[in-house]
Parts: sequence; structure tokens; C-alpha cells
Amino acid sequence: MLLLVTVVGCRSTGLRLTAEQEQIRKELAVISPRDDSLARDSPIVDIHTHTFNARYLPLRNILLGKRDAATPYTWLISDSCAATLAHSLIARTELAPAPGGQSVPRMESASQAQEHRDKGLICGIFLKLLDKAAASGAWRKGMSPKDQLDAIDKVAKEMNFQEKAAVMIATRMMGMDNHVDMSPNGLRGAVRFLWFLTQNDADQTRLFALQYKDAPMRGTPLMVSHMMDLAPVYDQEPNGNELLDFAKDQIRRVESFQERPNSNMIYLVAYAPYRDYWRGGHAGDAQELVRSAIEEHGAWGVKVYPPSGYRPAGNSIQPRPAGIRSRAAAEQWDARYGPLPADKNRALDEKIEKLLLWCIEKDVPVFVHSGTGEFEARKGYGFYHSNPSFWRQFLDNHPAPDGSPCRLRLSLGHAGGDDYWFGGKTAVSWGSDTYEMCRRFPNVYCEITTHAQLVAPDSQAFFVDRLTKAFDDSQRDADGKPYPFSFAKKLMYGTDWYLPDASERVTVLIATEQAFLHKKLRVHYKDYFFGNALRYLNAGTRLNKSNGSFTAVEKRLQDALTLATD
Ligand SMILES: [Zn+2]
Repeated sequence: MLLLVTVVGCRSTGLRLTAEQEQIRKELAVISPRDDSLARDSPIVDIHTHTFNARYLPLRNILLGKRDAATPYTWLISDSCAATLAHSLIARTELAPAPGGQSVPRMESASQAQEHRDKGLICGIFLKLLDKAAASGAWRKGMSPKDQLDAIDKVAKEMNFQEKAAVMIATRMMGMDNHVDMSPNGLRGAVRFLWFLTQNDADQTRLFALQYKDAPMRGTPLMVSHMMDLAPVYDQEPNGNELLDFAKDQIRRVESFQERPNSNMIYLVAYAPYRDYWRGGHAGDAQELVRSAIEEHGAWGVKVYPPSGYRPAGNSIQPRPAGIRSRAAAEQWDARYGPLPADKNRALDEKIEKLLLWCIEKDVPVFVHSGTGEFEARKGYGFYHSNPSFWRQFLDNHPAPDGSPCRLRLSLGHAGGDDYWFGGKTAVSWGSDTYEMCRRFPNVYCEITTHAQLVAPDSQAFFVDRLTKAFDDSQRDADGKPYPFSFAKKLMYGTDWYLPDASERVTVLIATEQAFLHKKLRVHYKDYFFGNALRYLNAGTRLNKSNGSFTAVEKRLQDALTLATD
């Protein structure tokens, strides 16, 4: 409880609570997860996390292609500045020794700004900030991760206006504007995100566990790590240890991390349709990469990422970028869409349909980003391509052979974004459409990403009230008919760790536990925190096939399954 009180809430949402919500708010304030055995004895599955680092992302081209992310400042960034910014983060990023690869140490010096003093104003500010962070111990060997994070927080707190603006610009160019604002906590979130981006890839699982070590739960959370395959999206060729090759290096590394006894991590492989033709690719390559990761390299499912410029159905490619400083963006567009045959939209529809039909046939879990922002290939692509209604279109067009609703095993990440779930105004239908799909289709699930908004008492109360109604099985659809499936069996816990957040992770988790310990949601606690995730992941079927010889992670899943079914 004390923790909650000391944390400053996020942006004000302008929420007006009803009398009923006011009452919930009062009741929430006295709930203490630490004193509740339901919280202490339940395991947690976080269905939405990331464990990549800067060497897994085409950072240089992400920056080059986003010149319109925060104009006019981003126009000031020259090509060589973008390359230098990317390189300066990558140089500070460690790689663990892994199959087929050597370890890569990070650059220790605090003199990058001096080395690259000719790259322009914004570049200079950003590089000096990195040097400052280095000098303060943010990456110092022998210092604990906690002390390093404290050091980086201190740097964030002491930033001057120019430095704040440079951090905002850099994170916006990566597409994080939904997550970051200029408030002190928003900026701390952005700076921490950049720090996590530089961490040793083998350490990410440990850093994740460390952030939750004071929260009441059984064991440490099991993380489901989502890969991203962005090189073809931004047309940046893999290059040794600077940008790891997705198939040869990234998948192998993540597979080996998953296999470590104490990883507490399983992974989803990423899909990128452009692999079918990008730099020598052939028709079918994109799906084959997914198949081999799942059938031969231990992946538990596939991550589909529409902000990269495509939809599951109803594709409608945006025009080729033109205008100030858009040369790189236009080249990236050419790489993504140029080689597609004459009816480009239809060609994309067909590729993704083929993948999803295979997923239905094999009962493979598909996880899709279904919020408005994040690593968008172009500004606006998230909003344009990620609308859950395109999934509804696919589901409606693919009923099961017996005519019953589509059986695709799908999770809508972010559940359509915050607005519906936290009382926002912009993309409300995205959330309500997500809810509808969960209740109409047997295997459609969703995850409302928990973050700083849960720590604000008003939004927390709104959230509890919203879910109470969503979980009510007597709710009828627009035609007055009962729904076939219960939402309480479909909603999963997820955080999108380590993307920027304005609050402390453990504080958000405790606030989420508080919400589900409220008398109106308490009966759904176990389903929400682990039961539904195990069902979505099809863990029972998958573990049955393992014939008794379990890895440590599988054993944990097995234990959680036993708890889930009592
Ligand atoms: Zn994510």
C-alpha cells in the first residue's frame, strides 16, 4: 500500500466517476495484496513481454525512416546523425555468448560525444547524455542492476530541457509516443527503456524477474517473450553483431535462452510477410521461417505485427512517402511493397490468409499487436493497420468446416488499446470490438496491457467497473442474444515489458492484483493471472506431447496447469 501512495499517478484522464465507481475506489484503497493468500499463492504468466536488445533491431533505418515523427526537430537529424545515434546505443549493448556466436562486450568509454562531435546539434545532445549516463555508472561492471537503474534514474531526473527533448525525439522516432510524455515519470520511463535496450540479451529474463521480486505471487512470473522481425520492414541488411540475422542468430539465441533451467521464459516467433521476396527471399519463406521456429526450435506461437504495414484482411497499402526528408522512408516502402505483384493488396491478403489457415490447422497460438502505436514502420501505420475490425473480417470469412465460428487461436494484444478499458475517448470501438470477438469465437483471447494508469485510483476504479460488466455472463449482444463464450475465460495478464512506462513495474502489478482482489473480480483472479494464458497457449496439449521428459519451464507450466484446473 505504501508503495502506491508514494507514486505519482500518470497524466490526468479527465475521468468522471459514477457513484458506483466512487464506491469501488474506496473499497480498492483498503485492499492489500501482500496480506491476501490468493495473491501470494497464485503463479503469474505475463503473456506479453520482450527480451530483445538493440542488436536485434534495425535501429539505424528505424531512425532514418521516421523523419516525420516529431517535426521539425526530426528534420534536423542528418543521415550520419541517425547512423551515429543507432551505433552509439548498439556500442553500449552487450551480447551473451550463444550458439554459433561469440559474446560481444559493450563499449565502456564516456567519450562518444567527443568522437562524433561533427554530427549536429541533436546528435551531440543525445551522445553527451549517453556519456553522462556512462560516467554515472549506468553500465558499470560490478555495479548491481538495481544500482545501475538508480544511476540512470538520477541522470533522467537531472536532464535539462534540450536533453529531455532529445530523449523524446529518439523515443518518438521508435514509435513510442503513446507511452512517453514530458512529465518526470514519463521521461524516466523513456530513459529506462533505452537502458533496457542496451542490456545483455541473456540477462533480460533475470532483469524482468528482479523488477517483480517484491510482489506477492507464487515463484517468479513466467514471461512470454515476443520476437520482432523488423529488418525487412525497414530494409536494413543484417550485419554481424550490429544487427543479428533473424533466422540464423536471433531465433537460435532466444531458443537457447528459453532452454536454460531458470529462464522462466517461453517465446513467440515473429512473422514478416516481406520475407517472401526481401533481398533474395522466395515465395513461402516468411511462413517457412515461422513453421521451422515452431516445429523445430521450440517457439510456442507466432507474433503478428500490423504496425509493420499490413493487415490480416482488407489490406490497403498506404501511398509511397513523398515530401521533405522522405528518401529513406520511400526506399523502405519500395522494399516492403515494390516486389509484390500487380494487385498488391490482394497479394498481401493471400499471404497472411495462408499463414493463418496453417495456424488454424496446427492450432498454433497467434498473438497480434492490436493497439494504436509502437514500432510503426511509418508514423500513423499503427492506427491504420492495427484495428481489430480487420481480424473480425478474417474470422467471419473463415468459419470452421461445420459452419461454427472460426477456430483460430488468437490473442488481441492491448485489447484494442487503452481507451475502452480506462475511459479514454479516441479508439473506444477498438476495445469493444475486441470484447465482442472474445465472446463470439471459441479461441479468441485478449490482453489489456497494464501500466501506469492502474496506479491512478480513478482509472483503477473505472477499470474494475468496466471489467465487472464485461465479465457478466448475462450481458446480451446488440441483437439481444446471449454470447456463447465468457469473457472471464478470455482475458489475460500482460505488461509489454520493457516498453516505456511512467510507473514502477512492481507498483503496477500490485495495483493490478488489488483490482482483481476486489470482491467483484476476485473469483476471476486465477483465470486472469495464469489460467487463461495456459488455455490460450494450449499448454495442456503441448505438454502431453512431451512424453514425460519436461524441461524446467515445462514443469512450471505443468504445475500451473494443475492449479488452474482445481
Ligand atoms: Zn509488445
